[in-house]
Parts: sequence; structure tokens; C-alpha cells
Amino acid sequence: MASTGTTGANVLLDSVMRWARLAPDAPAFSAASCQDATYAQLWGQACVIARGLDAHLAGRGPVLVLGRKTATTVASFLACLMSGHAYVPVDVSLPARRVHDIAGQIEGAACLAACELPEELAPMILEPGYLDARQLLVDAEERGLKAAPLPRERWVSGEETQYIIFTSGTTGRPKGIEVTAANVARFSEWLREFPQVREGGRVFLDQAHYSFDLSEFELVGALVTGGCLHAVDEGECSDFCALFDDLSRSGVQVWVSTPSFADLCLVDKSFDQRLLPNLRLFLFCGETLHHTTAAKLRERFPQAVVANTYGPTESTVAVTYCQIGEKELADPTPLPVGRPRRGTELRIVNHQTGEPVPAGQTGEIVIVGDTVARGYWQDPQKTQAAFFESQMGDGTPARAYRTGDLGRIDEDGLLRCEGRLDSLVKLNGFRIELGEVEGALEALPQVQQAVVVPATKDGRVRSLCAFVVLAAGGEKGEKPGVPGEKPGSPRDALALSRELKAELARSLPAYMVPRQVRVLERMPLNANGKADRRSLAASVSR
Ligand code: AMP
Repeated sequence: MASTGTTGANVLLDSVMRWARLAPDAPAFSAASCQDATYAQLWGQACVIARGLDAHLAGRGPVLVLGRKTATTVASFLACLMSGHAYVPVDVSLPARRVHDIAGQIEGAACLAACELPEELAPMILEPGYLDARQLLVDAEERGLKAAPLPRERWVSGEETQYIIFTSGTTGRPKGIEVTAANVARFSEWLREFPQVREGGRVFLDQAHYSFDLSEFELVGALVTGGCLHAVDEGECSDFCALFDDLSRSGVQVWVSTPSFADLCLVDKSFDQRLLPNLRLFLFCGETLHHTTAAKLRERFPQAVVANTYGPTESTVAVTYCQIGEKELADPTPLPVGRPRRGTELRIVNHQTGEPVPAGQTGEIVIVGDTVARGYWQDPQKTQAAFFESQMGDGTPARAYRTGDLGRIDEDGLLRCEGRLDSLVKLNGFRIELGEVEGALEALPQVQQAVVVPATKDGRVRSLCAFVVLAAGGEKGEKPGVPGEKPGSPRDALALSRELKAELARSLPAYMVPRQVRVLERMPLNANGKADRRSLAASVSR
């Protein structure tokens, strides 16, 4: 198998090519809502699209892949890597403004559409670097062309960027995290050791958007081991009858999702081993796994292992693993997230000084190791603030990342997550910088000041709540006021809240739009004269 530093070696490409030769008819991708693909078909599509990229694009810059859960989207990722480009996965369900914002951050980026574009994104077709993956496939078929792979020297490899995933950013714009081919190769080595995964050829649930790094868990896990991605799209996830019907025929053996998605499924009594008789492993990441979720899953899926993992996009999906069994469930403290993978060391440090805290105490989690990403796309300042060069315990040089997560290592050597140092929250597994939502609100002409807080119940974030102070007379600076509003007139709070939410939804993904928007005459302040976030959060939490 590919070594991590060799020129022309890319673990994903090497694996898919190998499986396409060894087991051409083995399923690589299946879904209820679009076409399935075998390994031979997936590799064939990747080669055709790569040749198209090669013919149209100069250089080795990143390519935006506009897609959704389809085999052609996966083939487009492979095609980018084969033709020497990092891929930037962008789900077409994101608001057009956000897609443009991401595209705008990658100057001159080519755009590869892997599915039909929604109307708001259609103008992108006219842009110079636009390519339609489906059209390339149709053209090749019409001409009876069977494309050969591009030479390996062209492939993305080693320390080159494999993908850039854009997550919520503090400054009101999404920020891109650059993960290298070597990072992914090392991550894949670890994944191959997981129970079930190690046997190979497993069917993986493929549920998270490809814009989120959680999806790399199944993408890498399935494709490097000759397994199959079973994709469920957003439409299916909002119709549980359709979802469960599809799952019952899916043969899924490895379940990858946030705990929140499993919680949603657990609401239905029929979500059990009879529905998914082959299921053997639940892999969770991205947010707190609660006792109730793990206990219910163990009860309803007696043949499956429930495993918790932890990690940020900045360190290639996940770096710790542990199985949740009777012993862990008997302990009422929050569940552990596990021990670090080989190649990763965890340090618990004092956030101010960076010095290690005494054993067992809580501090900031610093991840050191060979899956720590290159940094933030074209943002040396942010990269320098969070990433640094360090060394492993044995003196091997390694990159390190300050996570902003609080945690401690317990007496058994297991990491326990204990919250955040900043205002990043996880809502249903989605990563949200509250500052980005506040920035989007304050960019609206009606809003002078905004504070967004998580509304929690039983210790879980259930939604976001925004508190806003309106601009005097509905106007702010040079910006136009609210149409039809007289200065100082009483406003219908519900109508205003709806209006602000509708405006936010034009620039933010649905999961970032606060469920409630409350208007205040003035923002409450704390003793330091800052907006009193604590009292606002307490007022909406139970
Ligand atoms: P993302 O980059 O979207 O994967 O989000 C990374 C963040 O999610 C981490 O920095 C943590 O704050 C949180 N996170 C990830 N995994 C877990 C977990 N197992 N338990 C608690 N929080 C987690």
C-alpha cells in the first residue's frame, strides 16, 4: 500500500485503483436516490473527469466540487486528486451566498459541478473555470472513450493539500482547513485497525454532507478497504419512513454519524438490530456522546460495538477512539472519548502559559502528531495562532494544534472532553462559531448589535437564540432602513424575528440560523462592561 511520503502515492487513489483491478464488480457506492457504482465504474468515472480537468485547467490549484451524495461527486474528488488538485467539497444545499464566499476565498478556483445546480448557483456555469463532470462523462460515453488514469507523478501526494474543508469562522466568514495527502494516509492506517473495518469490504453509512470532515471517516474507511458507501441524502433524512425503508435494504455494517443523528433515529422504536441485522460498529464523532444514546444503542443493537472518537477537522477527522461498554456506562461522569491513535500525542496545557497542567487536571487539549493539518487556507495569522511546530515524546518533530477544547486525561489514560474555551458550539454535530452568526446579524441594516447564545436543556445544546438591539429608526449608518418602518414605531416581535431569520438564511446554512431572535432595548452588560452572555444564556436554558 502507498507509503505516506512517496511522490505520486495517494492512499485514496491507490486503493480505489487497486480494488477496481482486484474486484471490479464490487460495490463502491450505493444509494436509493441515485445511481450505484462498482469499483470499476467509480475508477472509470474518476479517470474521465481527471482527463477533462487536465485538458481545461493549468496549474495545481484547488478545485471547488459542487455536489451532493452521488457517485459522480465521489469520482470528482478522486479526479481532482488524480489531476493534481486539492478538492474543496461544497454541498449544493448551502446558500448561494456562502458558496460564493467560499469560491471568492480561492481566487481563480475552478468549479467542478458533479450534480445539477440549484437555480441560485446556475450563474456559476458562466464562469471561466467551470466544468460539468456529468457532461464530461456523457461526452466520453458518446465517443466510446475509456480513459486511462493520469500518470502517478501528477497525483496529489505527500505534503500537498488533499482537501480544504470550510467550517464556521469567527470573523463572520467560513474558514478553510487544509489537510494534506500524508495526513489522510496516516489517518487511513489507523482506520484500518478498527474492528469490522479491518476485515474489509464493509458497507458504511454515508450520511454527513461531504462539506463536513465527518464524511471523510466513511469515505476513507470504505474506499481504502474495498468497502461500499451507502449514501443517504438530506431529503431521505427528513422522511424517516423513506430512510428506514432504505436502511432496511442497505446492508450497512459500519454506522458513522454524529450522536445527534442516532438520537433522531432512536426516537423510532423500529430502529434496532432487526432493521439493520448486519450492523456491527457505531462510530461517533463531532460532539458529546451521551450515556442515554450509547445505552439505548447497546440495548437495541446487541451485536454492535458502540465507539466514541474525538477530533477536529484541523487534525484530520479524529484522533482518539474508545469502545463504550458496561464499565463506561456505569460511571455517571461524561463518557470518555478515548486514547490517542498511534502517531498522535495529547497534551493538556494551561491555556495562558502553554505549560502542561498536573496529571489528571483540566486544561486545553493540544494535539501533536502526524495528522495535524497544514493550517488555515491563506490565513497565516490564524494558522500561526493555532498551529505550531513541536516534537513527540521520542523527539520526532511533529506539528501541533491548540484545539480550544477543554479536557483531562483520566486515571485510565482516557481523554475526557469538558467544553470549550471560546464561543464555538456544536449543534446536532454542526460546528458553529457564534461570532459568525453575530456578524451575519450585524451586517443586516436593521440590527445594531447582536449576541447569540446556545439554548441548552439537560446539558445539551438544543438551538441558538439571538438577542438583538435594533438600529435607531431601523437604520444603521448609510444602510437603508427597514421598508415601511417609522422610527420608534412598535414592531411586531414575531414578524421581525421571522424577517431577520429569513434574511440570515440567505447567507448562512439552515443549522446556523437561530431558532429565536429576541429584540432588546439595550444589551445587558456584565461587571466588565461587556455584553452579559452568561445571563442571556441562562435566560434561555433549562
Ligand atoms: P469538527 O471540526 O466539526 O469536527 O469539530 C471539532 C470539535 O467538535 C472539537 O474541537 C470538539 O469541540 C468537538 N468534538 C469532536 N468530537 C467530540 C466528542 N467525541 N465529544 C465531544 N466533543 C467533540
